[in-house]
Amino acid sequence: MKKMNRGWPFSDENEMQEIKAVLESHTWWRGTGNKVKEFERCFANYHNVNYALGVSNGTHALEIALEVLGVMPGDEVIVPAFTFVATATAVLRRGAIPVFCDVDADTYCLMPESFNEKITNKTKAVIPVHMAGHLCDMEKISKVAMENNIRIIEDAAHAQGGEWNGKKVGFYSDIATFSFQNRKVMTCGEGGALITNSKELYDRAYLLHSVGRPPGDIIYEHLILGSNYRMSEFHAAILLCQLKRLANFTNLREKNAKKLNQYLEGIDGIVPQKFDEKCTRNTHYMYMFYYDKKYFGGMDKSEFIKEMNDLGIECHVPYPLVFNTTFFKKDTIFQNIYEYNNLIDKNFPNAAKISKEVVWIPHYELLCDDSRLKEITETILKIQSCNY
Ligand SMILES: *Cc1c(COP(=O)(O)O)cnc(C)c1O
Repeated sequence: MKKMNRGWPFSDENEMQEIKAVLESHTWWRGTGNKVKEFERCFANYHNVNYALGVSNGTHALEIALEVLGVMPGDEVIVPAFTFVATATAVLRRGAIPVFCDVDADTYCLMPESFNEKITNKTKAVIPVHMAGHLCDMEKISKVAMENNIRIIEDAAHAQGGEWNGKKVGFYSDIATFSFQNRKVMTCGEGGALITNSKELYDRAYLLHSVGRPPGDIIYEHLILGSNYRMSEFHAAILLCQLKRLANFTNLREKNAKKLNQYLEGIDGIVPQKFDEKCTRNTHYMYMFYYDKKYFGGMDKSEFIKEMNDLGIECHVPYPLVFNTTFFKKDTIFQNIYEYNNLIDKNFPNAAKISKEVVWIPHYELLCDDSRLKEITETILKIQSCNY
């Protein structure tokens, strides 16, 4: 079998040195260390915002964001039907109700019109997800949210440093959340962060993530009911190195994704995710495209994906619709949400089509030279010609 993951996660001597420094410092947690603090400062600067908070993972970052924004049991939070499950489970774990809306058929991002339609007097927040690193239309979304007094949490798990119309993630929202899980465009294995311009939200998030203890506390002062969502010094040390590389990696992926679009343009049955010009920085967490089996002799998508992997090009199926996941379907406590939302595929036509027909290639396949992009193209053509 050919080597998968193409060496991702990437690291070099820098990570080695940083980890060694933490080891030797004998301070491995943020309470007495400085790596988490340093990472937070750099990450906030990178996004031109006032505050960043490192946390345990992206799922917890969403849960913290909802809690500090005051989302309470019974409140409604609008989320896209097509996303990683955590966007919706974070809402459920607050006892709040995820109200699903459709996504754009071309960009796979939350559709402002569909968001608008789902607003009720119980709507407290909306969570646009920057799918595969393509930013949602944050101008339209924030306009609708503002008119209806709705808080915005950007789920930017895919979009570290992404931009809409020259404005970085974090600009249009109350809070943006990130994941640094193993596959993400910068990673420490498991990790996450929140960014915000609000001191009040930051202070609340800090207390919540540190069992209610304020920064520097050594006298067991628990000011609010919190939990432990802290990031360790090791994780921050790795992330500092990963952040330094992010801009260069993003440049290369942007260049290669555009090229790959050109190479695939003439292939019947392959239609890549569209890149809106207003998305001025696309982090390309995934390279996604519709696959139409009609042009591949009726070969099922799962078979196509298997062949691609066998031929050395890593690719995968995309997320299921959140409401089609096993726990959601089988757990009777979600029945009322089902009925309330009218959760059948045909009510979310774009999301359903994407989940069914799209194939995704991980971002590290785009960290390559031109000959590799041609290999990807030729592999698709080869599978097509063998099956026609
Ligand atoms: C990865 C991911 C998360 C969750 O992040 P973890 O760090 O894995 O908990 C949330 N939302 C989206 C869209 C993701 O892709």
